[in-house]
Formats: sequence, C-alpha cells, structure tokens
Amino acid sequence: MCGRSGALDTTLHKLYLRLRQISFLRSLKGRIFLILLIVGLIPCFIMRYAILQNYEQRAVNVRTSDISTQVRILANHLINYHYLQDTSSEVINAELEQLSNLYDGRVLVIDANLRIVKDTYGISEGKTIISEEVIRCLRGQITSRYDRENGYIEMTIPITETLEADLPVGAGERIELVRGIMLVSASNDNIIATMDILNHQAVLLMSIVGVLIFVVTIFVSKFLFAPFKKMIAALDQVQEGYTSDPISVTDCLETEHIGDAFNRVLGRMKMLDDSRQEFVSNVSHELRTPITSMKVLADSLITQKDVPLAVYQEFMADIAAEIEREDKIINDLLSLVKMDRTSADLNISEVDINALVELIMRRLRPIAQRRDVQLVYESLRPVTASVDEVKLTLALSNLVENAIKYNKEHGFVKVTLDADHQFFTVKVEDSGVGIPADALEHIYERFYRVDKSRSREIGGTGLGLAITKSAVLMHRGSIKVESIEGEGTDFAVKIPLKYIAV
Ligand code: ADP
Repeated sequence: MCGRSGALDTTLHKLYLRLRQISFLRSLKGRIFLILLIVGLIPCFIMRYAILQNYEQRAVNVRTSDISTQVRILANHLINYHYLQDTSSEVINAELEQLSNLYDGRVLVIDANLRIVKDTYGISEGKTIISEEVIRCLRGQITSRYDRENGYIEMTIPITETLEADLPVGAGERIELVRGIMLVSASNDNIIATMDILNHQAVLLMSIVGVLIFVVTIFVSKFLFAPFKKMIAALDQVQEGYTSDPISVTDCLETEHIGDAFNRVLGRMKMLDDSRQEFVSNVSHELRTPITSMKVLADSLITQKDVPLAVYQEFMADIAAEIEREDKIINDLLSLVKMDRTSADLNISEVDINALVELIMRRLRPIAQRRDVQLVYESLRPVTASVDEVKLTLALSNLVENAIKYNKEHGFVKVTLDADHQFFTVKVEDSGVGIPADALEHIYERFYRVDKSRSREIGGTGLGLAITKSAVLMHRGSIKVESIEGEGTDFAVKIPLKYIAV
C-alpha cells in the first residue's frame, strides 16, 4: 500500500517536473491561457453533458408514451377483430405493418399461451416466447425497457378485453381480462441522430470558445504585461549602464512596488560600493604614510655624506617606530576583517569576566603609569558569561587603552563591572580630553579620528572603536558613549550573559 502511494508520489513529482520544464507553462502568458481555458471550457463540458442527458431522457419518455398510446388503440382493434384467434384480418395486418414502419421496428402479437401469432418481420410466428417482461405483462403490467447500447425501446402492452361480470355477487361490474400481449421494439435512431447533431454543435461551440479564449489571452496578456515589459527594459538599461536614474514604472501598483524595491537594493549596493571604495583608499593611504616617512628618512641618510653615528641612530630609531606603526595598522586591519565575518566564527566558552578585565588592566597598567594616569577597577559582583574570550578582550582593551591615550596628566580611568540576571555591563570612564558632540556619531567608523595628528602621535590607527563595536555586536550586545569635551568620556558595553546563536 505504502509502496504504491510512494510510486504515485514519484510519478506525480516527475509529472510536475516535466510540466515545469515546458517553457509555455513557465510563462505567465501560458498560465493565464490555461486558466482561462479551464474556466471557459469546464462550464461548456458540464452544459453539454447536461443538455444531452436531458434531451435523451425526454425524447425516450415522449417516444415511450407515444408507442404506448398507439399500441393500446391497436390492441382494442385486435380484440374487436378477434385477431388472436384469426390473424387473417387485412385491416389489422395493415395497421400492424403501419405501426412497425412508423417506429422503424418490430411488432409481435402473442396470445395468452405465449405463442407468437403475428411477427411483422414474419420470422417467429408460431414460436413460444418466455421472458420476464412477457410474464409480467400477462399479469396486466405494462413494461418498457430502453436499450441504449443497441438504440431501441422495447415495450410490452397487455391486450385486454373488458367484460361485464355475470356473477350474482358484484353483478354489472366490469372486469378486464388479459387475452394476449403486444411486444414492440422501436428503433431510437432518430433520437441518436438528434443527439449526434447536438453533440457536434456543442463541440463546435467549445472550439469557438477555445479560439475566443486564445484571442482574449493574447489581448489580455499584451495589456497586462506591458508594464512588466517596460520594467524589464528599464532594468536592462540600468544593468547595461545607460542610466543610474531610479526605476519608475507607475503603470500598475505591482511594477511600482518592484521598482521601489529595486531602487532600495540599488541604493544599498551603491552605498556598500562607496564605503568599500572609501575603505580601500583609506587603507592604502594609511599603509603608505609610514612607508613614505621611512623612505624620506632613509633617503636623507643615503644622500648625506659622513653622517654622524648619533644622527644614524636617531633616524634608524624613527624608521623602527614607523615599522612598528605599519605593523599595528596591519594587525588592526586583520582583527577588523575577522570581526566582519559571521557570528558563526565566534569561539564561545564560559569565561570569568572579572578575571578577564583584571588581566586587561594588568597589561595596560605600564602604559597608564608612563602617562601618569591612575587605573581603577571596581567589580560589583562576580560574573561568568558565555563569550568569545579573544574578541571580547580585544574590544575592552581598545576602550581602556583609548581612555588612557586620550587622557590628561594626573588623570584617571575607572573600569566598573556589574551584572543583572541577563546582561553584564563594563563601564570605562575617563577624565580625558572628551569627544566633541558632532564627532560622537563618527567615532565607530573605520579610520575616523577626531584629531588626526594627535591620534597618530600617540599611535592610533582609527580602527580601535570599529573593532570594539563589531565584537560587541557579534555578541548581540550594545555600546553607548557619553562625553563632555575637556572633561572626559564614558563608554558602556552591555553583553548578554548567555550567547544565543540565531
Ligand atoms: P584610534 O586608533 O585613533 O584611537 P579609535 O577608533 O580607537 O581610533 O578611536 C577613534 C577616535 O575616537 C580617536 O581618534 C579619538 O579621537 C576618539 N576617542 C576614542 N576614545 C576616546 C576617549 N576615551 N576619549 C577621547 N577621545 C576618544
């Protein structure tokens, strides 16, 4: 059972695939034609069937009652002429012949002993006939049967004689006695011929409907698809580069929506392309700057004669600093590329956040001491969270390092760790130079620096906060900044304790 339904499924699937391959059905034009054809022809089929059935039924009924009337009249004549006893009456024979011709059939006259006394075909006279219909008819029942396959109606009608009862009880009452049977087989050829004509007319009508639907489909699809054709032409123009204007086909709502959606995608692609180009030019510029400095330093050593050793050492120290800077930019770029990948690249594990922050503070303490900045860490509760340890360390290190770098002499940096039942928060507050209000929205952009020369002087690449933000977003967290120029800056990072992969 299961095997058979499986085979049916496979066959249906193959049929579906086959239909899909037919390019006619893949076009909307083809589908509209098919739908209209089905919608138009199904009522035609139903009407044809109903009309033919109805006609046949009515025609058979009319013919049956017609035969019945004619035969009954003739049956009376048979009794009057005592035909069952003597079949020589020419009048009756002529009438029987006429009846037989009228219905293009055969008439049998059978007596009460089931003997055929007259056959208009003249082949069965004298024979005995026994059939269910004949027996029933002998009991006074009229029977009729329509043989559709062979196209005739067969009727048996009793030949009755009416007598007056001469018994003492019920005297004067009329009784009917069955004296014989008339069996008529009438041809239905004329009904079948009429049905054939009707059928032909129905087929003709359906063909006309089919042609009409075809013509209507051509006109309708031309009318319906005109906006889509315009749309395709407009898209081709954009693709071939003739225009970068937004697409607008307002002939119908659908094309208007498609156009709007396409313009949005196009806008986004343009934006991405612009930002990619800007990023590439920024990268090359940033990478070239240390190289240019090194070349200037090296050239000046080469062109000068008898350079004192102290100058050599000083220039070589500068070159080493530039190499270190180049190295930092490349490292930051690599970190950023890693952050740009999908969150599937996160290496999540249960991490003691207190220990992680403490480690960051320990690593950065020497830099803070060098700049005379006080580093304070306050942990409000023990926190463990599922995070990518390396990426989170990088993100928080950048924040604390910035807070140290952009600080004042004798300033402070305070790091606070807190948590609720869902998130942990790391706040990095500093007493530094602050960020101007109009720069706040740009600080997470790659290579953005509020004060380029100062940032470069203190070894900034302009990539730190971009890396931090990417890492925080990968953890499905958020980052906020508040700053007052000249007074200090507060960064707050909020990250879920449990990482939920989407
Ligand atoms: P950079 O490597 O130059 O520090 P970032 O992306 O880390 O780059 O920071 C971008 C810019 O934001 C910095 O150049 C600096 O001007 C500003 N900035 C970041 N953190 C602070 C801070 N704590 N205080 C003042 N300015 C800051």
